[in-house]
Amino acid sequence: MLEEPLPLFRKTQLTYTNADLNGSTDDLWQIHDRFAKGGQHSDGVVSPSLLDLKIEIAHRIYQNCHFCERRCLTDRIKKPGFCGVLGSKYSSEFLHYGEERELVPSHTIFFTGCTFKCVFCQNRDIAYHPNAGVVCDPQVLARRIYARSMAGSRNVNWVGGDPTPHICMILETTRALATLERESGVDARLLNVPMVFNSNAYYSTEAHKLLDGVIDVYLSDFKYGNDSCAHRYSNVDNYIGAVTRNLLASKDRLIIRHLVMPGHVQCCTEPIVGWVREHAPDVKFNLMFQYAPYNVVNYPEMNRYVSDSERRAALNIAKGLNLI
Ligand code: SF4
Repeated sequence: MLEEPLPLFRKTQLTYTNADLNGSTDDLWQIHDRFAKGGQHSDGVVSPSLLDLKIEIAHRIYQNCHFCERRCLTDRIKKPGFCGVLGSKYSSEFLHYGEERELVPSHTIFFTGCTFKCVFCQNRDIAYHPNAGVVCDPQVLARRIYARSMAGSRNVNWVGGDPTPHICMILETTRALATLERESGVDARLLNVPMVFNSNAYYSTEAHKLLDGVIDVYLSDFKYGNDSCAHRYSNVDNYIGAVTRNLLASKDRLIIRHLVMPGHVQCCTEPIVGWVREHAPDVKFNLMFQYAPYNVVNYPEMNRYVSDSERRAALNIAKGLNLI
C-alpha cells in the first residue's frame, strides 16, 4: 500500500470506459474485463468510469443474486436469499484497534447478515439478524468514512456478518466518496482511504471481478481444512474449492486468518497451514486462538475451549512450515 499513491477504487473511478450502461450484461462484462486489464487514467472524474460499470453490473447481480458461492439467484429487490439480506444495514462502525497491526486503527463497518450459518458464531446478534441495524446510505457512509479518516483511520474495513451480500453498497459508497470531494472545505487527501474486504472468502468469481480494482487488502478467513467440517458447522458446500480459488486470486493483497478450533487441529489447521505454505507462502498468516464456545450445546464436541496441547500442536505445525 505504501507503494501505491492512490487507493485502487480511485484509479478505477478515474478509468474511463466507453460502456453503454443500458447494454446487455454480457456486453458489460466484456467491456469490464477489457478495461480491468488496463485503461487510461484521467486526472478528473470521468463517466462512465470503470467504477460506474462495476456498480451497474453489481445491481444486475443483486436482482439474480450470485454474489456468493451459494448462488441463490433470487431477486433481492423482492425477496432475500439464504443470507436474508435485502437492503444493506450496519450494526456499528468505529475505529478498531484490535485488527492486524498493519491495519490499525481500522475503520470497521459491521454489516448485518451473513452467507454462512456457523454454529459457534460469536457475532450471532448481527450475523443471524440481517434486519437489525441502521439502513445504509452511501452518502452518509462516505461522510462517516471521511470523519474517521480525519480521526486517523488507515483504511475502511468492510466486515459483518459478512460483507459479500453488500457489494452494491460498498461500490456505491466508494463512488459517493468522490462526490464528497467536490464539496468545499473537504480535504481530498483524506478521502483516499484504502479498502479492506474482511470476509469468509466464500464470494463468487463474479463478485471477485467486481472487487478487483476496488479492494486494496483482502482480510480472509480460512476456517476449514475440508468440505465436511465446513458443511457440518457452517452449512456450506464446495467450501475448499471456492475459498482456495479466491485466496489464490487475491494473493498479492491478502492476509489470511485461521481460527484454531477444538478438535480440529488435524482435520483443519494442519491442511490449511500446508495449503498456505504451498500456494501462498509470502502472505501474512494469522493463527488465532480466541475460539470461545458460544451456544453450541447441540455440538458437544465444539462446546469447549482449545486445550493447551492443541494450541501447542497448532503452533508447532505453523512453525514447522515456517509460516509464523
Ligand atoms: S449473497 Fe449469497 S446467500 Fe445472499 S442472496 Fe446472494 S447468493 Fe444468496
